[in-house]
Amino acid sequence: MRNDRGGVLGGSLREFPSPAGTPKEDHIMAKAKERPKPILLPQLCKGCGRCIEACPRGCIQMGTEIDQESGLVPVVVDRETCNACGLCITACPEPYGLNTIEYELEDPKHLFGEGVAKPVTPDQPSERIPLPKVQPMVLKGNYAAAIGAILAGCRHVFGYPITPSTEGAELMAKVLPQLDGVFLQAVSEVATVNHLYGCAGAGLPCMTFTSSPGFSLMLEGISYMIGAEVPAVFVNVMRGGPGLGNIGPEQADIKLGCRGLGHGNTHAIILAPTNPQEMLDLSMEAFRLAFEYRNPVFIFGDGYLGQMTGRVQLPETMIRPGIPGWAVYGDEAHRHNLINSIDLIEVDLEKRNEALNEKYARMQANEQRSSSFRADDAELLVIACNTPARMAKGAVERLRREGMPVGLFTPLTLWPFPIDALKPLLGHAKKVLVVEASAGQLEDELRLALSHADITGIEISHLRHMGGVLPQEGEIVDKVHEVLEVTA
Ligand code: SF4
Ligand code: SF4
Repeated sequence: MRNDRGGVLGGSLREFPSPAGTPKEDHIMAKAKERPKPILLPQLCKGCGRCIEACPRGCIQMGTEIDQESGLVPVVVDRETCNACGLCITACPEPYGLNTIEYELEDPKHLFGEGVAKPVTPDQPSERIPLPKVQPMVLKGNYAAAIGAILAGCRHVFGYPITPSTEGAELMAKVLPQLDGVFLQAVSEVATVNHLYGCAGAGLPCMTFTSSPGFSLMLEGISYMIGAEVPAVFVNVMRGGPGLGNIGPEQADIKLGCRGLGHGNTHAIILAPTNPQEMLDLSMEAFRLAFEYRNPVFIFGDGYLGQMTGRVQLPETMIRPGIPGWAVYGDEAHRHNLINSIDLIEVDLEKRNEALNEKYARMQANEQRSSSFRADDAELLVIACNTPARMAKGAVERLRREGMPVGLFTPLTLWPFPIDALKPLLGHAKKVLVVEASAGQLEDELRLALSHADITGIEISHLRHMGGVLPQEGEIVDKVHEVLEVTA
C-alpha cells in the first residue's frame, strides 16, 4: 500500500502472516527487506518529534546539530534497526520530511528555468518650476511645514487632528482638493501610517502631521516602511509625555526617532527646525531626502514651534514630482515591481539588512546638518535644538556682551548627529552645556556621537526642563556663569 505521498503505509503483524515453520519475527524482517526504509530530508524536518513517538522500534532520536538551511534541529534516523514499517512517514506532517524516495530538493531555477530578468523601468525625473517672487509671509510653524510639502510636490496627506500639530492637517484638508490632491482623515494612527505605506509604494510624495502619542502608535508601520524602502515625510510636533501628557512643548521623542523606529535595523534622517522658515525649508528638503534614500524622513518640531508665527520667505522654485522606476504605480511600465519588507530566507534578510546599513552609513556621511553662532572662538558651547536653540541664542548674545567666550551649536539633524561640524569646535571649547526640553535625550545623542568619534576630555553640563516648560534665556545665562565659575 502506498500513501498519497508515494510512501509505504505502516505495516502490522496482521498484514504479514508467517508461513508454517517460519519464526514470525524473521518473516516480518524478510518482508521488511522488500520495503523501502524512510529517508530523512533534514532541511525539511521541523524537529516536532512526531516520528519519534510513532516509531515502535525506537529508531528515531532528537538530533543535536542545527541544520544550516532551516536553522532547526532535525531528528536522526537509525536505518539499521528500522524495519521499514512506515509509521514515521505517516506521522510526519511535513510532505517531504520523511520519504521512501530519495528526493533531490530542486533549485527553483532548475525547476522553473532562469526566469526572465526583471525589466528596469527608468525614473521619470522631477521638474523644478519657477515661482513668482513674493513678499515674505508671517506663518505658524505648522502652516509653514504644510506649504513646504505642497511646494515639494506632496498631494497626498493622511492624518487626523492632534494638538499641537493640527493646523498642518487642517490646511492640507482645505488646499489639497483644489490641487487635485487627496487629504484623507484616517481612522487612527495605525491606519495613517499604513495609508502612507501604500501611497509611498506607488511612488507618490505623501506625508502626515502628528504629535508624540500619535507618533508612538505609528512605529510598527514605520518599521515596515523602512524595511520596504519607501519614502514619506512625518512631521512630529512633539509634546509633553509620557502617556497623553499635555499639549505643551517637549523634545520628548528624540530617543524614539534616533534609536527606536520600530524593530530591527531601522534609521531615518531626523530634521530639527528652530523656526517657521526652517519648518518650510526642511519640509521641502525632507521630500528630496526621502526619495533620494527611499526611506521615511522625520521633521521633529516642538509644540511651541508648531504654534509660533514667524517671517517666512517662499522659495524661488517648486517641484513637480516624477515617478520613480521602482514604484508600484499601477501602469504597464511598473507592473513587474513589488514592494515588501519580508524575506523568509535568513541569508536574504541578512543581505537586506546589510544593504540598509550601507544606506544608513551614506546618510551619516552625507546628511549631517547643523548651524552655529559665535562658535568659532568659543570656550564653552551651548548645544540646543528646536525652540530651546532660540532661547540659547539670546543667552549667547547676552553672554558675549559680557565678554564671555560662549557660542551656540545647533544640530539640524538629530540623526545623523552632526559630529563632523562639532568636532573642530571642540578643539578650543572644552566645556559644553546641553540645553533641552527633555530629560537628557539630546545629551544622550551627543554623548554617543562623541564616543563613536573617539572624542574625550569634554566637560558636559546640562539644563533641562520637561512637561511643557522650556529653558529660559536668563537661566541659561545663569547656568553658563555657574559652569564657568563666574561670580556676579
Ligand atoms: S519505518 Fe523505521 S524508523 Fe519509521 S517508524 Fe518504522 S521502524 Fe521506525
Ligand atoms: S515527524 Fe517529520 S518533521 Fe517531525 S521530527 Fe519527524 S521527520 Fe521531523
